[in-house]
Amino acid sequence: MEEIVAKLLQAIGEDPHREGLRKTPKRTAESFRFLTSGYVLKLEDVVNGALLPADTTGMVIVKDIECYSLCEHHLLPFVGKVHVGYIPDRHVIGLSKIPRVIDMFARRLQVQERLGEQIANALVSILKPKGLGVIIEASHFCMMMRGVEKQHSIAVTSHLRGLFLTDPKTREEFTKLVRGNT
Ligand code: ZN
Repeated sequence: MEEIVAKLLQAIGEDPHREGLRKTPKRTAESFRFLTSGYVLKLEDVVNGALLPADTTGMVIVKDIECYSLCEHHLLPFVGKVHVGYIPDRHVIGLSKIPRVIDMFARRLQVQERLGEQIANALVSILKPKGLGVIIEASHFCMMMRGVEKQHSIAVTSHLRGLFLTDPKTREEFTKLVRGNT
């Protein structure tokens, strides 16, 4: 990967041997390995048995989870917040596991729509909840820095399962709690 980065530097008209760039191929390779480290993770290992029996029937929400990913079209970041809510069916998951599941899919080349679907599907497969929703709000650097150069637009995607899909009241409670006006 280092050689490829050195070639890329040359291709944009830079001198990969100049002082400031000498270590850039190595750093970039390490950085890309980290930013795409989600490919080798397995959902079972990420969750690692953190499924707990519970008799709660109320909605569980974890909101404003920071999310950093790379768009697969331009290899540029998209960054934002993920909100997750679910209605348990006899099981809850350790709260810290939800950001880990998000990172597992965010640290791959992504499009926001697929990222949300993968997070929702993974959590449904673990929790088998009565309903679940994932909302992602993200700014895409490929829109902000190039192309249409829209710095303040935010893409919002919503990924609903079970009661969140079929019951308007549940969906409304979810969006209210996520927006914070309870
Ligand atoms: Zn893009």
